[in-house]
Amino acid sequence: MSLIFELSKNSRRCAVFPDGGVHQYQLPEKFARKELDLPQIAEVDLVRHYMGLSRLAFGVDNGFYPLGSCTMKYNPKVNEETAALEGFTQIHPLQPAGTVKGALKALKQLQDALCDLTGMDAMTLKPAAGAHGEFTGMQIIRKYFVSRGMAERNEVIIPDSAHGTNPASAAMNGFRIVAVKSNENGGVDLDSLRAAVGEHTAALMLTNPNTLGLFDENIEKITRIVHEAGGLCYYDGANLNAVMGLVRPGDIGFDVIHLNLHKTFSTPHGGGGPGSGPVGCKAFLAAHLPDPVIGENGFEYSEDSIGSVRSFYSNFLVCIKALTYIKVMGADGLKRASQNAVLNANYLLHKIKDIYDVSYDRVCMHEFVLCLQRMKDETGVSAKEIAKALLDFEIHPPTMYFPLIVHEALMFEPTETESRETLDRCAKVLRHLHQLAYSDPAYFEGVPHKTVVSHVDEVKAARNPVLKYEKGTEASD
Ligand SMILES: *Cc1c(COP(=O)(O)O)cnc(C)c1O
Repeated sequence: MSLIFELSKNSRRCAVFPDGGVHQYQLPEKFARKELDLPQIAEVDLVRHYMGLSRLAFGVDNGFYPLGSCTMKYNPKVNEETAALEGFTQIHPLQPAGTVKGALKALKQLQDALCDLTGMDAMTLKPAAGAHGEFTGMQIIRKYFVSRGMAERNEVIIPDSAHGTNPASAAMNGFRIVAVKSNENGGVDLDSLRAAVGEHTAALMLTNPNTLGLFDENIEKITRIVHEAGGLCYYDGANLNAVMGLVRPGDIGFDVIHLNLHKTFSTPHGGGGPGSGPVGCKAFLAAHLPDPVIGENGFEYSEDSIGSVRSFYSNFLVCIKALTYIKVMGADGLKRASQNAVLNANYLLHKIKDIYDVSYDRVCMHEFVLCLQRMKDETGVSAKEIAKALLDFEIHPPTMYFPLIVHEALMFEPTETESRETLDRCAKVLRHLHQLAYSDPAYFEGVPHKTVVSHVDEVKAARNPVLKYEKGTEASD
């Protein structure tokens, strides 16, 4: 496909700007551009160009997207409609709070709903993504200890199955990372945890269900061990999709949590945002939340706050989408969404686990992890090749090579809205690919075969990235 710049022909136009009725102002010479090389194109060609591009992208709206740990769930269109309401889009972040009371009320309602769902007492909607939420949560924990004269609590315990952002967020706040092993069931090894806690423990950072898609049976023992050692418990709730309305992290010993509205609460994501990573905490930490929080009477500030973590009111429209989702689903609907997410994952797993190895053969939660090491040893076909081959069957690849503790990992998260037919078809395709791996491994060379861009040279793309168009250079297909 050509680039829009290559389609450009001098003097083609698709927009005629009305006379703004404002006095024209001549910029000082030194600020004026000598040349502005914008593409010139007719409307019909412009529309076709971008429609064509959009058809090349794979999204939740055009196919099954079982990307584990990312919750690529269906995004109800009513969310977009609410977020497009003029009362929400035509306000300015610098307007006085008194003139945006409706918007603040919507944010407050979302805060309250998220507190209810997680069992927390206070919530900030400020962080702009999950990792930003983790960073904020770790700041709160750091502030808690430092302000009480316990700066020596400078270690954060993180299981080896954790999302990579966890150790990064803790380290960025000056904590030392202490890793704990997983046990043979894929949960936290209690003996390793007991050995890891001590007078330097500030917190445990835990994802539950963990990145293997497993609910830790010892969860309450785990939080008790950390509390008894004087530490706090942080819940990575990026993937709350299996437990909404069923388990509240605040009820099983967690003090701080972050959520990913752009995963669990049906906001479209991918391609870099915008996201939202609200952080909730128990009452004893509420004074440390980032300024300002939205209280009964608008903005509230606290002397003990960690300060501001984000300009203005967060990614506001993402919050509106999440609030719409919660209101439409209702408490019962959210609970059923979680139950179906778990059912769908187990259904798909059950349809393939006689031929694919599972990392831990247990009832899974909203996702599961296959281990393709044996297949690779026996056929030479890797997890990556199976994942890429799925694209030829209009199925988005699952998450690959994560979590790191599983070799040749493929992590599937079907989500709650997928039909039985879609899951059956995916199982059929996976069985077909398994058979191909053993009968015709050469098929996998250069997969996917049918997409516009096939097998890319990933090393070259990483070493020599071409990130912007230089006029005069040839476009490569
Ligand atoms: C996605 C995810 C994150 C990070 O969220 P971002 O919005 O991508 O920063 C953190 N933890 C877990 C378990 C996740 O799945």
